[in-house]
Amino acid sequence: MHPSAFFLPTFLEAVRTNTEESLASFHVDDSEVTLNVCLGKQFSGGELYFRGIRCENHVNSETQHEEMYDYSHVPGRAVLHRGRHRHGARPTTSGLRMNLLLWCRSSVFREMKRYQKDFSSWCGECQREKRERQIQCVKATKLAFLRGGGGGMI
Ligand SMILES: [Zn+2]
Repeated sequence: MHPSAFFLPTFLEAVRTNTEESLASFHVDDSEVTLNVCLGKQFSGGELYFRGIRCENHVNSETQHEEMYDYSHVPGRAVLHRGRHRHGARPTTSGLRMNLLLWCRSSVFREMKRYQKDFSSWCGECQREKRERQIQCVKATKLAFLRGGGGGMI
C-alpha cells in the first residue's frame, strides 16, 4: 500500500455527565471507516445511534425503519463502522465516558469517488432510488407490451 493512501487521524473523546443532547450530535465522519474504542470509565448513557449509510447527496434524507440501529458502549470493546454511516451519541447521563476514535481515510477511495455518480453499492438512499427506477422501468415495459396487444409472445 502506498504510504499516503491510508492515514489515521485519532481523537480521544472524554465526556462527563451531559444531559443535553447536542444538536451537532447527529453526523457522518470525515473518514472511510471509523474505529470507536470505549476505554471506560464508569458511566451510563452515551449510546450511539446509527441511521443508515448515505452519500453526500443524500446525507439529509429520511431514515428507513430497517436502518435504525442503537449501540451501547461496553468498556474494552470497539465498534467499527463506515464513516458515511450517519450516527450520533445520546447524552452521558452519569459518570465519565472515554472513547478513542480512529478515522481511517483512503485517498484512493476519495479519488475514485470523484468520478462516480451512482453510490447504490453502499448508500441506502441511492439503493432505494435505483430499485424505484427498476420498478418503474418494468411497469413501463409491461404497459408497452400490453398496449402492443401481446403480439409476438411465445
Ligand atoms: Zn446516495
